[in-house]
Amino acid sequence: MEAKIEELKSRINGRVILPQDRDYDEARKIYNAMIDKYPGIILKCRDKEDVIQAVNFGRENGLEASIRSGGHNGAGLALCEDGVVIDLSEMKNIEIDSREKTAVIFPGNTLADIDKATHEFGLALPSGIVGSTGIGGITLGGGIGYLSRKGGLTVDNLVEAEVVLASGELVTANESENSDLFWALRGGGGNFGVVVSFKFKLIEVKNVYAGPMFWPLDKAEEAIRFYDKTMKEASIDLYGFFAFLIVPPADPFPKELQMQKVCGVVWNYTGAMDKAEEIFRPIREFGPPILDYVSEIPMPALNGMFDLLYPSGMQWYWKAHYINELNDESISINIDFGSQIPTFHSTTHLYPIDGAVHSVAPGDTAWANRSARWVQVIVGVSPEAEDAKKITSWCRDYYDALKPHAGGGSYVNFMMVEEDDSVEASYGANFRRLGQIKKKYDPENFFHINQNIEPCS
Ligand SMILES: Cc1cc2nc3c(=O)[nH]c(=O)nc-3n(C[C@H](O)[C@H](O)[C@H](O)COP(=O)(O)OP(=O)(O)OC[C@H]3O[C@@H](n4cnc5c(N)ncnc54)[C@H](O)[C@@H]3O)c2cc1C
Repeated sequence: MEAKIEELKSRINGRVILPQDRDYDEARKIYNAMIDKYPGIILKCRDKEDVIQAVNFGRENGLEASIRSGGHNGAGLALCEDGVVIDLSEMKNIEIDSREKTAVIFPGNTLADIDKATHEFGLALPSGIVGSTGIGGITLGGGIGYLSRKGGLTVDNLVEAEVVLASGELVTANESENSDLFWALRGGGGNFGVVVSFKFKLIEVKNVYAGPMFWPLDKAEEAIRFYDKTMKEASIDLYGFFAFLIVPPADPFPKELQMQKVCGVVWNYTGAMDKAEEIFRPIREFGPPILDYVSEIPMPALNGMFDLLYPSGMQWYWKAHYINELNDESISINIDFGSQIPTFHSTTHLYPIDGAVHSVAPGDTAWANRSARWVQVIVGVSPEAEDAKKITSWCRDYYDALKPHAGGGSYVNFMMVEEDDSVEASYGANFRRLGQIKKKYDPENFFHINQNIEPCS
């Protein structure tokens, strides 16, 4: 194997990192410190040709292969044990066509990189809410965030992808070329090949009227009902995710609120700024809120708002449900577990996925859940390794209690390594077609370190 690795090194533009190398431990670190895997080779790809070499090397030598973009995956699917990590994090080009309102984005970019680049042109890509998340994983699993109601999922804005298949062949996928692959990429995760460039359409968003608003926990029942009604009646310009949380012990939060358990909404209004005060008048009249940091800010300021609170290297355990409706019992379960949040980084968020997400039919992309109103993520987080058990059991118990009130399946980007049939359930009626497309493009299931879809007929 040593000779083969030497030969590989001579053929690539990027770097090969091996267990004996000084930067190996740094290179095998990912966002979730709960994951501690030891790959045999980490190939830091510089370009598409490197990716082709990495795929061929893995396949020809019978090695496991994982794909890493931002390294944010909670289950640690960016890494493998012993095999080869196809690390795309240094592939950072972004090309924006401001007239066409499109962007070609390489998979090493984070959401913060993309926000910064698009904001200059008054444009934005609907995607997630934390800047350090990688565009690769979030896109292929769906992509939900502050602009979902207005602009749909990240996958709904994908117009083309270039993909290195398990055979090592580089192909283009769009509505007219390899359209079955294009369909599968929009939600099917990293099952079909390594995406080496994404082309997205962008939407016009510059400044937004946005930020967090909190109410005391003893108002939680009224607050969640008020929120539910507000969102049901709101135009797609208003977005807000409901949360149970502990106010962080840090600026800019007032001292008297720090470490208090509260409920709240992080709002995002993208309509005309001169209408914002009027839209928020009835919202501000409810309660009243004990904290109101909603104001006009640039879109990237909203997207980066919680980045400092969630640096890389903490313990993460999470699970998610699709929620169609809130009912008396589920509200009471939420209040019960919301009152028992184990650490101040842990939280639950109800992310709206109605509005523009519902205007795409369930069979039009692999991402099937087009009638649920929310993805609810339950997330246990702590900087302390000794909290791992505590955050995991809170999360699992909360998830289990809500299960009878959930829509079935889960959002693949918020899954750990699951023991049940939740991958199949998550794709519902699209699962079989995904298996058939997998058989066409990756018949040997070379790309299986993911929320795996096995090849089928
Ligand atoms: C702090 C935090 C906040 C988050 N917020 C949101 C949010 O607001 N909205 C949301 O929808 N999700 C969110 N997520 C979940 C996120 O979408 C997933 O964790 C996603 O997997 C991260 O993508 P990545 O590229 O960083 O991950 P990685 O760990 O690098 O990759 C994860 C998997 O995606 C696949 N993959 C990645 N890149 C490629 C590629 N180029 N080609 C083929 N397959 C690829 C592979 O299977 C890989 O194993 C968040 C995660 C974290 C940790």
